[in-house]
Amino acid sequence: MEPLGQDEIRASFVNCTRGEAKGVTLPARPEEIPWEKREFLGWRDPKAAARAYLVLPYRGETVGLSLRAAPRPKGRVLLSNMCGLCTTTHPLSDIALFSGRRAGKLGREGNTLGIYACANLACSQYIRGELKSDVPQPAETLSLEERVFRLEDKLHRFVERVLESR
Ligand SMILES: [Zn+2]
Repeated sequence: MEPLGQDEIRASFVNCTRGEAKGVTLPARPEEIPWEKREFLGWRDPKAAARAYLVLPYRGETVGLSLRAAPRPKGRVLLSNMCGLCTTTHPLSDIALFSGRRAGKLGREGNTLGIYACANLACSQYIRGELKSDVPQPAETLSLEERVFRLEDKLHRFVERVLESR
């Protein structure tokens, strides 16, 4: 993706109030991010672990989503240990359920969407082998280009649903 400055990141949020967007803890040094190797910018709020953010280029604009990472349900088995974005398989402790309010009317009615994803939102690093999951992965023969395409496709489908009633 193209590099973003802190102001652009802060202005990108579509599913939270301006006040909430103001309170977002931004990545400290955007200039140190290897943007060309990232399909989206995803991070957990260092000041509030249950908050997570996802910022990405979407149809010519920059879209930022404010998400909540659900605490792991006690005594219940998670539905999936596979990231819904990059399809990396993880031990359950490395998967989180992220949910976000939908933009516009549906969001005002309290409608949210959730997705299981890498708890550290480092999908771009997993598909490049910069990070490795702690468990063996199912055999797959996709090229990096194909993995990138799949990740972007899943991201876009999620964003599309968040923005549906904007
Ligand atoms: Zn992932």
